[in-house]
Amino acid sequence: MSVSSPNPVHVIGGGLAGSEAAWQLARAGVPVTLHEMRPQQTTDAHVSGGLAELVCSNSFRSDDAEHNAVGLLHEEMRRLGSLIMASADRTKVPAGGALAVDREGFSAAVEEALNGEPLITIERQEIAALPDEWDSVIIATGPLTSDRLAGFIRELTGKNALAFFDAIAPIIHVESVDFSKAWYQSRYDKGTGKDYINCPLDATQYDAFIDALLEAEKTEFREWEGTPYFEGCLPIEIMAERGRQTLAYGPMKPVGLTNEHDPQVKPRAIVQLRQDNTLGTLFNMVGFQTKLTYGEQKRIFRSIPGLEKAEFARLGGLHRNTFLNSPKLLDETLRLKSRPSLRFAGQITGCEGYVESAAVGLMVGRYAAAERLGRPPSPPPPTTALGALLHHITAGADEATFQPMNVNFGLFPPLEGADALNEKGRNLKGKDRKLKMSTRALADLDKWIGDTPKR
Ligand SMILES: Cc1cc2nc3c(=O)[nH]c(=O)nc-3n(C[C@H](O)[C@H](O)[C@H](O)COP(=O)(O)OP(=O)(O)OC[C@H]3O[C@@H](n4cnc5c(N)ncnc54)[C@H](O)[C@@H]3O)c2cc1C
Repeated sequence: MSVSSPNPVHVIGGGLAGSEAAWQLARAGVPVTLHEMRPQQTTDAHVSGGLAELVCSNSFRSDDAEHNAVGLLHEEMRRLGSLIMASADRTKVPAGGALAVDREGFSAAVEEALNGEPLITIERQEIAALPDEWDSVIIATGPLTSDRLAGFIRELTGKNALAFFDAIAPIIHVESVDFSKAWYQSRYDKGTGKDYINCPLDATQYDAFIDALLEAEKTEFREWEGTPYFEGCLPIEIMAERGRQTLAYGPMKPVGLTNEHDPQVKPRAIVQLRQDNTLGTLFNMVGFQTKLTYGEQKRIFRSIPGLEKAEFARLGGLHRNTFLNSPKLLDETLRLKSRPSLRFAGQITGCEGYVESAAVGLMVGRYAAAERLGRPPSPPPPTTALGALLHHITAGADEATFQPMNVNFGLFPPLEGADALNEKGRNLKGKDRKLKMSTRALADLDKWIGDTPKR
């Protein structure tokens, strides 16, 4: 392996996050060596040697910065000089309200900009371990990190802190739950009383729910992913296939709970939702990891009493995905607590999606640059999409149940005081609430940009 000068910051992985991190470092005046293993060695999903290759869809999702959290993240990144956003805007193709790109043109635009930046050196090699003389490193090797580097990371973090598959249960915005049917209660009344939300099913509803699961359309694993079913976290549809009562004796068992709306009647089964973030705005469906298609998840889970109008912050899934238990391992500037010269960026930190990965790369690049320049790191306000996402990854999420997460308004601190009300004095809802949160985010971001020292 050729070892570069110890002076640059070493960014490992030239995907969405690593490319953005390298750009931010160079724009701040800090030299970077960007290490990318392709084309010499590839992953199971990448097909080219290009930097910032999009491995699947060509969409960066909604570009609506007023009513959509990922659209807001686009706008915040644009205001921070994001290379990924500038390249996406340059190569965009018609896609209604979404931002979609010509994938080859996009990758070429990113690569051209990085090649043209004198402070960036690109080295095409797999990094399997970190030389001791590298005093500032960002690992941005993504969900398909090479086996050798993943083994090295596991030695640093402990084997239970780096996962190779996600097992995602859907997450619901609490304000969309119907509490005329659902109620708060912990099993056997342990805990604070607000830790769990319960949704009851009678025998007819339970039977219909099992039929729906058995008949539903499922997504398949890609051939190279294997079938990673562990007995402790089987998809609910696989549990239903094992026997019609399996769920009623498993994650939907109705014991230790009393329906406050109908205390005399024992439900046949109960779906529990558990608080998922410190803000208390999001709740996950306990034990509901699934490979049902997204459309089927919405249809079937909205048949559960109390969830008829559920709004999902995240839908369930099971994928090959290398990611850290970041709330446990990383500090607020994404440094590994046990080795602060090492930062992580992108999907490996437990964010989910092209834009989120690039956004974390952007912030990590800025943090590493500030450190090299002898300045204190300046985290973005928690009211911004960037701040909300970073807070979730590093502190807001529960480390015991941590799973990858897209940006969504449930991660933001709620509006307060008069800001939370409409002209009639009622709580803002839906699009009005999102608009107010986005307006607050961009105002706070602009103030933060103004207050942050320039290079
Ligand atoms: C199959 C699949 C499909 C996905 N589809 C979508 C989608 O449609 N939309 C969406 O928003 N998100 C999708 N994602 C999730 C995620 O957004 C993308 O994986 C995204 O590319 C993550 O960005 P990243 O920079 O963290 O990782 P990547 O973009 O994967 O970049 C990591 C880079 O590191 C390199 N690398 C790995 N190991 C080493 C090493 N040891 N040394 C040097 N280089 C190394 C890789 O070659 C790669 O170029 C998908 C993920 C997967 C696995």
